[in-house]
Amino acid sequence: MGLMDGKRGLILGVANERSIAWGIAQALHREGAELGITYVGETLEKRVRPLAESLGAPLIESCDVNRDEDIEALMAKAAEVFGKLDFLIHAIAFANKEELSGPYLNTTRAGFLLAMEVSAYSLTALVKAADPLLNPGASIITLSYHGAQKVMSNYNVMGVAKAALEASVRYLAADLGPRGIKVNAISAGPIRTLAASGITGFRQLHKAFAEVSPMRRHITIEEVGNTALWLCSDLSSAVTGDIIYVDGGFHVMGAPSQED
Ligand code: NAD
Repeated sequence: MGLMDGKRGLILGVANERSIAWGIAQALHREGAELGITYVGETLEKRVRPLAESLGAPLIESCDVNRDEDIEALMAKAAEVFGKLDFLIHAIAFANKEELSGPYLNTTRAGFLLAMEVSAYSLTALVKAADPLLNPGASIITLSYHGAQKVMSNYNVMGVAKAALEASVRYLAADLGPRGIKVNAISAGPIRTLAASGITGFRQLHKAFAEVSPMRRHITIEEVGNTALWLCSDLSSAVTGDIIYVDGGFHVMGAPSQED
């Protein structure tokens, strides 16, 4: 008996085997879930399709979250293949590289809107489109970062987008709570992924993290996957509107002392 036996859902955000979404996909599959996995564009399809097939995913579709028609087509396919949905994983973010460097003050209007659309609004768009398919007790999870709460160098507009994303989690949780549907964010510590490589100085930040976080080590996509598993399972039935930190305790630390 697996924790996810009989449960079906969608995972958006697998780019390759380093993706956080891939860690989540593996954990949910291990416990018996049936997965629908999406990708964006032909280049990523070449990487994502074999990964999705290795988990026996019955739905593998392209979905650019900036396109309403893609989101509608995805949900139509999900209705056809799965009927209803028990979980929806949103592990998507994007900002232009030049916005993730130097002072936040230099953020452009176009860069701000793009980061907000892909990284924050898309959660609401997906949940609205998935709403008729969501079973009571379904779980929606998005991915956030400490830069939503505190200033992190170079994270800039992505921190502002993550703050909007975390607020969206609370509002969506209030909307869907009466039907027993949970909406939460996992705020993960730094992990070397494709998206993270776009942030100036990420390598140094990643290295320093293991030296200062209470657990004195990095966190893995498997650990994020296991937390997502708990949030998707019935074990977390009263947990909603929350930000769950998987960061070895980093967010509880104050500013480093002068000696550090
Ligand atoms: P990743 O590059 O593996 O995943 C990012 C995904 O976003 C990719 O699959 C990409 O295809 C997708 N994406 C971008 N624009 C899209 C669009 N228009 N439509 C659909 N999909 C789109 O990197 P990751 O680090 O696994 O990122 C997953 C999530 O985790 C992101 O929200 C990221 O901000 C968050 N996160 C990452 C870290 C970290 O250190 N890596 C830490 C905390 C939170």
